[in-house]
Amino acid sequence: MALDVIIIGGGVAGTTAALGLRQHGLQVALIEAQPLPQWRIGETLAAEARPVLQALGLWEAHLAAGHLPSYGNVSCWGWDAAVDKDFTSNLHGHAWQLDRPVFEHTLSHVAQSRGVQRCLGTAVSQIKHHGGQWTVQAGEQCLSAPWLIDASGRRALVARHLDVRRQSLDTLVAIHAIALTDPATDRDSRTFIESLPHGWFYTALIPGGRRTLSFQTDAALLPPDQQWRSKDWLMQQLSQTRHLGALFESRGCTLTDVPSLTSAHSGRLEQFSGPGWLAIGDAAMSFDPITGHGLLKAMQSAMQSVQTIAAGHAEARATFDTWNDQLWQQFSQARRQCYATERRWGTAPFWHSRN
Ligand SMILES: Cc1cc2nc3c(=O)[nH]c(=O)nc-3n(C[C@H](O)[C@H](O)[C@H](O)COP(=O)(O)OP(=O)(O)OC[C@H]3O[C@@H](n4cnc5c(N)ncnc54)[C@H](O)[C@@H]3O)c2cc1C
Repeated sequence: MALDVIIIGGGVAGTTAALGLRQHGLQVALIEAQPLPQWRIGETLAAEARPVLQALGLWEAHLAAGHLPSYGNVSCWGWDAAVDKDFTSNLHGHAWQLDRPVFEHTLSHVAQSRGVQRCLGTAVSQIKHHGGQWTVQAGEQCLSAPWLIDASGRRALVARHLDVRRQSLDTLVAIHAIALTDPATDRDSRTFIESLPHGWFYTALIPGGRRTLSFQTDAALLPPDQQWRSKDWLMQQLSQTRHLGALFESRGCTLTDVPSLTSAHSGRLEQFSGPGWLAIGDAAMSFDPITGHGLLKAMQSAMQSVQTIAAGHAEARATFDTWNDQLWQQFSQARRQCYATERRWGTAPFWHSRN
């Protein structure tokens, strides 16, 4: 059967778009480089994701998947004391600490069961646009469709191919690792955040008696010779905190693996769409993880792309672009305000560049 849409990238944005497009009866192929969902940093799903999951008929599957409810966060940011933020008054209920591969597997598996043609474990190697049709080469597969969605994450494969530039606000990176914790005593699924003169930490409980630990700093502030690859280096940074280090110690947390480095910069494409293509999720814009909303925004932008393609007229693409522009403005303002509340280390390069 002839395809209507090709989606590049089978993360949260790509699979959400695939599910939404199928609800409109469109024929969709989803190309994902990884054969199976991998563990990746980013585990808190905001409560506002509930209406999206419900609209896609995924809410029951989500509830059954063993993710942890999260009722708030605790931050030591701007002053020495830790401050609680409670999520329980949210209209949509509590947030979630995800088992991320399980979450992505659920989306991808349901997409397949609803007729999405998945091409897993094959990276896109070539993209061509001719006569109103996109042709995409991935391994042995050569697919054609009138619409192409770029859901390839921060790499923004399609945009790069089309020479659409990406603007970045900073060079934030995250050095992160998983720690084993004691599930019998460590049950606090709130996210703990703490700022330091050269960046900030967070830790969050995830299913399976584990915690993520992530330190955000600027690329230029990383130690030489990839010293950040050692567990000792990450633990030494953690020992400079007032609260998080003590929390880690009191719960007996031990890092299981060497730390990894992931880009965490805030950035956006200069253009979110063009004739026959749309960028969604991190491919369109990536948010500082302090917002904790990257997954939610990835799902919401995927739903916007579904409406745009289903509407099938040129004005719908203008609405898509406006929606993205407004989202970026809201985010950049919230980011500015958030960093402005930390005034203790105004001359330190990390904070100086943000204020
Ligand atoms: C340190 C850190 C912490 C974060 N914490 C949170 C959090 O707590 N809560 C939250 O909501 N968000 C968080 N985020 C953000 C969140 O992880 C992202 O916003 C989200 O992953 C975006 O989803 P996506 O589907 O757009 O992109 P991705 O998850 O990056 O998926 C893109 C997919 O495209 C595939 N791909 C790439 N190139 C190709 C190719 N050539 N061919 C085929 N496939 C390809 C990749 O394999 C990948 O599966 C965090 C981010 C960072 C860096």
